[in-house]
Amino acid sequence: MSRPDFDVVIGGGGMVGAALAALLASRCHASGLRIALIEPRPALMPLPQEPLDVRVSAVSRAGQQLLTEVAAWPLLQARSPAPYERMMVWDAQEVAGGPNTLIFDAAELGEPDLGHLIENRAVAAALIERAIALGVTLLRTPVMGLHLDREMATVDLGERQVTTSLVVAADGAHSPMRHLAGLGGEPLPYPQTALVTHLRAEKSHGGVARQRFLAGGPLALLPLADGRVSLVWSLPPAEADALLLLDDAAFGAAVTAASDQVLGRLAVAAERCGFPLRRFNAAHYATTRLVLVGDAAHAVHPLAGQGVNQGFLDVLALSAEIVAARAAGADIGDPGPLGRYARARRADNALFGAAFDTIYRVYTDDRDLVRRGRRVLLGLAQRLGPLKQHLVARALLG
Ligand SMILES: Cc1cc2nc3c(=O)[nH]c(=O)nc-3n(C[C@H](O)[C@H](O)[C@H](O)COP(=O)(O)OP(=O)(O)OC[C@H]3O[C@@H](n4cnc5c(N)ncnc54)[C@H](O)[C@@H]3O)c2cc1C
Repeated sequence: MSRPDFDVVIGGGGMVGAALAALLASRCHASGLRIALIEPRPALMPLPQEPLDVRVSAVSRAGQQLLTEVAAWPLLQARSPAPYERMMVWDAQEVAGGPNTLIFDAAELGEPDLGHLIENRAVAAALIERAIALGVTLLRTPVMGLHLDREMATVDLGERQVTTSLVVAADGAHSPMRHLAGLGGEPLPYPQTALVTHLRAEKSHGGVARQRFLAGGPLALLPLADGRVSLVWSLPPAEADALLLLDDAAFGAAVTAASDQVLGRLAVAAERCGFPLRRFNAAHYATTRLVLVGDAAHAVHPLAGQGVNQGFLDVLALSAEIVAARAAGADIGDPGPLGRYARARRADNALFGAAFDTIYRVYTDDRDLVRRGRRVLLGLAQRLGPLKQHLVARALLG
């Protein structure tokens, strides 16, 4: 077998693909792993004076550790990651902070916080910057085709082709590379759109992430460093479309009412966007010399704020397999390590995808019995120590 151009080619430089590039480059620096990251879109770190983008994610402490390991975390300080120290979840039929509110508290766990709210574009840009500094080759072009052979993989970039031992598809939920590799599958749409914007609140958010479960879907108010809150409000598409058509004052009034005034009056303080929501877990995460990571492999409802965190867990698991294969002098595109990665991560993502889906179904089910049952469900979780501990561990560790 002739020597390929690269050992690993990662298609897609969103948060997950860029994290894999930086982590592999950092952990395999000594062994000279040759990595290419293929991303057609420019990913520049926003300037300090640029307003905060509306796409922000709650990044868990495991995600923060990954960002710290590759030295991307210090770069993100310029965009003020906002820690959240508490999380409160309650049903719309209950009062916020009442006995049936589920509360996660970092202080109870001896931790400084439960995670941070960070701008997606800044995370991707910081990781790409670090990946390049660690020796990754960035190619600004889309992947157009794939030829996956037992000997070697070839990635078609239009004007040129590159050969590699391993291709990683990190190209998002609709993943052209997943289709090119014959792994197929399309995300199933939820009958919901997530409305996203930043809001100014009358009362201080106090570093608390809040989520109120309404009949139409959950409404989350997540703390930002500048005192505003990030809104993620999931609701039926027709209702979301109607809300998007309102002027800022009417939208502010609607979201103030829907939040039960938990932070007093809310006013729109950024552009408003709607994102269709979907659920997906690929039937297979691996095929000949190719694996899937991040949204290319799985997508979940944002109610638990875990999508990119699950992607970061894929990155950690795949990196561990690649590092071990390198240390053993083995072929990193061998079905053995790829299969182990695929089985472990697919099972974990299936479990959590099903859990988030169940929560979504229970909280959007209009039947009287379910409505009455769910009133106390969160309070029950609050009182059941081990269950709550498990949920907290998941929120912290990703
Ligand atoms: C409303 C909302 C709120 C959310 N909140 C949270 C949260 O709080 N916490 C959390 O953990 N998750 C959250 N998520 C989920 C999170 O945003 C996603 O899981 C995450 O962005 C996926 O990252 P990714 O890198 O896998 O994919 P993407 O971000 O989709 O990146 C894919 C990349 O691939 C590139 N690409 C596409 N086609 C090609 C090609 N042919 N060749 C090369 N490159 C290509 C694209 O340009 C893009 O840069 C939320 C999602 C939504 C919708």
